[in-house]
Amino acid sequence: MNGTRMRVVVVGAGLAGLTAAVDLVNAGAVVTVLEARDRVGGRMHGIPVSSGISADGGAAYLGVRHTELLAQLREYGLGVASTEMAGDSTFLMAGQRTTTPGRVPPLGAVALGDLFDRLDEIVASVRTDAPWLSPDAERLDRISVAQWAADVIDHPDAQTFLPLFLGEMMAADPASISVLHMAFYLSSGGGIRYLNAFEGGAQQWRIDGGSHLLCEALADRLGDRVRLDRPVLAIEQDRDGVTVACGPDSEGISTTYRADRVVVAIPPLLAQQIEFRPGLPEPRATAATGRGCAVKVHLSYPSPIWRDSGLSGWSVSAQGPLLSTVDDSPPDESVGILTGFVTGAAASAFSAMSEAEQREAALAHTRRLFPQLPAPSQCTVTDWLSETYSKGCYAALFGPGDWLRLGPSLIEPHGRVHWAGTETSLEFFGLMEGAIRSGRRVAAEMIAAGISQTDSRKVVSR
Ligand SMILES: Cc1cc2nc3c(=O)[nH]c(=O)nc-3n(C[C@H](O)[C@H](O)[C@H](O)COP(=O)(O)OP(=O)(O)OC[C@H]3O[C@@H](n4cnc5c(N)ncnc54)[C@H](O)[C@@H]3O)c2cc1C
Repeated sequence: MNGTRMRVVVVGAGLAGLTAAVDLVNAGAVVTVLEARDRVGGRMHGIPVSSGISADGGAAYLGVRHTELLAQLREYGLGVASTEMAGDSTFLMAGQRTTTPGRVPPLGAVALGDLFDRLDEIVASVRTDAPWLSPDAERLDRISVAQWAADVIDHPDAQTFLPLFLGEMMAADPASISVLHMAFYLSSGGGIRYLNAFEGGAQQWRIDGGSHLLCEALADRLGDRVRLDRPVLAIEQDRDGVTVACGPDSEGISTTYRADRVVVAIPPLLAQQIEFRPGLPEPRATAATGRGCAVKVHLSYPSPIWRDSGLSGWSVSAQGPLLSTVDDSPPDESVGILTGFVTGAAASAFSAMSEAEQREAALAHTRRLFPQLPAPSQCTVTDWLSETYSKGCYAALFGPGDWLRLGPSLIEPHGRVHWAGTETSLEFFGLMEGAIRSGRRVAAEMIAAGISQTDSRKVVSR
């Protein structure tokens, strides 16, 4: 960048916004990151689960194809820990508890094979670089996965398995996503087998110490360019630049920032809550994407004691609340952590319960799954559906009609406003890898724009 330095405000200090901010600073821009919460990281969040130990309340897993994420971890001196899967799996199907060496629930192998063949067929037909241009895109975008399943899946075992699979992969209720979104998501993430696998797949590792450490490292590099407690309410463009207005912080102070360009690095549903002047064009202004539905439950034990009985801690249940569990204990086994996933329709019901009811339901389920275990010393619930600045997770869900309406303009800048966030990445959409790639893409887009500059002043008003 030559001449006056470009001034950029980045809205959102999640992985996408922080990545974009670092790239822009490295390119010589003057950057301010405005974050609504009192912490960075967004959907990457460490929660205390035992004295001095935290677990991933949000994003956790990564695999070998997450090349940008692995490169960032190396750059910031962070390591990975393998997801421990040795031992038997536990299944609760039709009220029946079984333990077996395999990872797949004891359902008809032929029925599940047929289901995967059907899914493979649709996934292969979708254009990941432009899902809305896929052959048959209109039909696939019109129907929900639940409608599609009712038409093409006969076997009750496949009908049982599909919602469990989509809950685990996408935190989605089949009634709320289009077939096009399901196929796109599975393809974008590397295909069904890669996404679904632990060893060699997308769940091979966790970030050692927690995924939030990466966001904290990026924020450290940015220093006081990152401003917490700054909920952006309005973005107004004029001939010379952009004014970004934040609502009152915890001390009741509202702030306003001037910039040449703005990166909005938050999910589309949250971006729609910001007042834009001039207003966003259709369909960005109104096409409301669905919310991913996931609640995480962490159960703490003195050590991974299920391993003593030859169990991996991995479980799948046909009925909630904990549709699956996985062993997320730290590598040194100083504490045992079982992570339970409440996803899809079960998550909406769970989120509506009181905290006491959630704990009781989770503990009762754990007793059925692992009767040999003592009660956990701690049960921590992280409910993403009720998080004002996430509104669900793992990522936005595109329902019938959304891809054809929104897809073509998803990353089209609105004047001086540019878009990032994992929901704007066609590669690894919804994942940490997608967030980084979106941040890289938007920074490159702005650097290429190479605009001339104005002043970036902060105005404080009470
Ligand atoms: C339970 C759970 C499990 C997951 N599992 C995985 C996994 O295993 N592997 C994986 O790769 N991914 C996983 N994900 C997804 C992953 O977390 C996201 O893809 C990624 O973190 C998204 O980053 P982002 O920067 O795009 O968005 P976000 O992390 O949502 O960041 C947006 C930021 O903007 C802030 N913000 C929102 N509105 C405003 C506003 N008006 N003003 C200012 N700031 C605002 C938010 O507070 C937030 O910090 C999971 C997510 C969750 C929650």
